[in-house]
Amino acid sequence: MATDHLPVSGDFLNQRLAEKGLRFTSQRRHVYEVLLSRRDHPSAEEVFMQAKQSKPEISMATVYNSLDALVKCGVVRQVNVDRGATLYCSNMNKHAHFCCDDCGKVFDVNLKNSPRMPEVDVLGDFEVRSIDIALHGRCTGTCENCGRKEANG
Ligand SMILES: [Zn+2]
Ligand SMILES: [Zn+2]
Repeated sequence: MATDHLPVSGDFLNQRLAEKGLRFTSQRRHVYEVLLSRRDHPSAEEVFMQAKQSKPEISMATVYNSLDALVKCGVVRQVNVDRGATLYCSNMNKHAHFCCDDCGKVFDVNLKNSPRMPEVDVLGDFEVRSIDIALHGRCTGTCENCGRKEANG
């Protein structure tokens, strides 16, 4: 089971930003709160739409800037799926991403066993530090879109 997100703490965010020499701002905190409230990996636009609801003065540029800062200080992760916009994930627990090829949604999944570190066969020297796994398939129950598709044939 996925564990719940950490409660939003200004101190926590402030400290993480400070470690990277980044400034704590109420906008950055707000964008972080929006991300914490969602488990569905929103795009920057979706974050902007939601952030605007309680902070109408926030601009798209500020949202991009805040997302950038949150990724840099390691409290948010970028998720890139083959096509489409960069998505954002605030779940910093170890997990993999399941991408539905039909509706494009991305879900957090826990792996029951860790995958073996693949051997790298390329020219040059590389040190593998982590593996970023994306599983592809189709969501069969959790997604309204795909459920409907199936019902219609
Ligand atoms: Zn995720
Ligand atoms: Zn789907």
